[in-house]
Amino acid sequence: MVGLSAHRNVDLLIRQIEVFKPAWVCVTDETAAQRGGERVRAALERHGGKFLSGPDGLTGLVEQCPDVDLVVVATVGFAGLAPTLTAIERGIRIALANKEVLVAGGTLVMGRARTAGVDILPIDSEHNAIFQCLQGQDRRAVRRLLLTASGGPLRNKSPEEVARTSVEEALQHPTWKMGAKITIDSATLMNKGLEVIEACHLFDVSPDRVEVVVHPQSVLHSMVEFTDGSILAQLGQTDMYLPILNVLSYPERLPNRFEPLDLARVGALTFSKPDGHTFPCLRYAYEAIATGGTAPAVLSAANEVAVEAFLNRRIGFPAIADTVRRVLDRYNTERGFGSADGLDLTLLREADGRAREMARAYAGYSL
Ligand code: MG
Repeated sequence: MVGLSAHRNVDLLIRQIEVFKPAWVCVTDETAAQRGGERVRAALERHGGKFLSGPDGLTGLVEQCPDVDLVVVATVGFAGLAPTLTAIERGIRIALANKEVLVAGGTLVMGRARTAGVDILPIDSEHNAIFQCLQGQDRRAVRRLLLTASGGPLRNKSPEEVARTSVEEALQHPTWKMGAKITIDSATLMNKGLEVIEACHLFDVSPDRVEVVVHPQSVLHSMVEFTDGSILAQLGQTDMYLPILNVLSYPERLPNRFEPLDLARVGALTFSKPDGHTFPCLRYAYEAIATGGTAPAVLSAANEVAVEAFLNRRIGFPAIADTVRRVLDRYNTERGFGSADGLDLTLLREADGRAREMARAYAGYSL
């Protein structure tokens, strides 16, 4: 470990510095950097590390940290885009957990990665499953990608119950242990929508060739269907350590001490269609990727603001999807989404900023 970053969790960062002794460290949240900076510096001084702070610090870290052969992008939201592009510029392999990077900037990121010959290895469990299923396969023989979804904590709830969902209920994910933003996205099914967009970019397929299948056991992590009708699937424990281990060791496979998956104990694997009526975010995501241009960036930015507003108890659960819908419509009327041609970081930042402003207005923030 040569470089490390944290947003606000300075205490955990200091414990990690003591274990891994990184050469460079960044705290991206300005307030946390001011409050905890001195303690971070003190921890770094023991082995002579360097300290960066603020949102640009992340790009600086990727740009200047020496001896990097893999950058793990595990930030949340739009924040991961600029450092990812910097890693590509340096020709460094990327392990990507931050799906919004591809949702907002997929065309740009994948285009540059292809030109630079940089591998982007997916950590997102579904995409990691597809990545594994595609090893050694003829990409032209891929018919469809089948993305599995747990259905989130609100699966099987009536639309009335869903409308009354509290923050606590939405944070109770049935199978995966993840951060707050992604757990709320799982409850609205926006997470799966973002993953559809992510899959289109990562594996270069059109959205009509990505199907979402609800699979509540979260044992089968996704599938690839080939032109001959064969379907390959990847199964495993529901634990993010596994996809992380897969990309960190790729192309090798490392042994671990996790308990093997006991299929007899799992018993049954079930599959069903997602409920796009009660959870419209999934439809909005399909619509955004089909529209192209800045539409996915606008969708993702509006969703980030709305989820934060929900977590801060400013808006109710259904208002997350409503905010996304209204921002997409208003943005389209005001500016239009343009096309993928000429999409660069400046244009994406502008779209992201404007979409956030609109979303804040809808989500009850003063501008
Ligand atoms: Mg996932």
